[in-house]
Amino acid sequence: MDAFDDLFAANAEFARTFKGSGLTGRAARGLAVVTCMDSRIDPLGLLGLEPGDAKILRNAGARVTDDVLRTLVLGVFLLGVERVLVMPHTDCGMNKATDADVHELTQSKGVDTRSLDFHMVPDQRQALAHDLTRITSSPFLPSDMPVTGAIYDVKTGRLIAVD
Ligand code: ZN
Repeated sequence: MDAFDDLFAANAEFARTFKGSGLTGRAARGLAVVTCMDSRIDPLGLLGLEPGDAKILRNAGARVTDDVLRTLVLGVFLLGVERVLVMPHTDCGMNKATDADVHELTQSKGVDTRSLDFHMVPDQRQALAHDLTRITSSPFLPSDMPVTGAIYDVKTGRLIAVD
């Protein structure tokens, strides 16, 4: 069996009743969300959003990397983004190890990852403050754009605002 047959079968069903053809690529609710790749997070569902409403940027740890900044600049200037929510989560694997730990693990499996920066997060609040500052202080983004951080609790479904 092909490794992706299940997905194409599900998509055939999805496309049968597809209703999204009227949407554009602009963020209808003017929102971008930076969140983690964690498979427990349903960004649209937990924020009451629908497809078409927001730009969703995901990576390991919800980190504001250079590529996330690049994407936010495009989102703001081309795709209707007017506000940004950075949303890491509880029980994140990124909080459970350091970059050095990961390099050691991969090395034990014969892979040298030392040329990669994993942006691991020993202190979640500190990392979030750092990442919010990367957005608010970016010379490429509007200085008056609303930007906030919140931590999603994967056990309760609640979003906890962070100052
Ligand atoms: Zn995570």
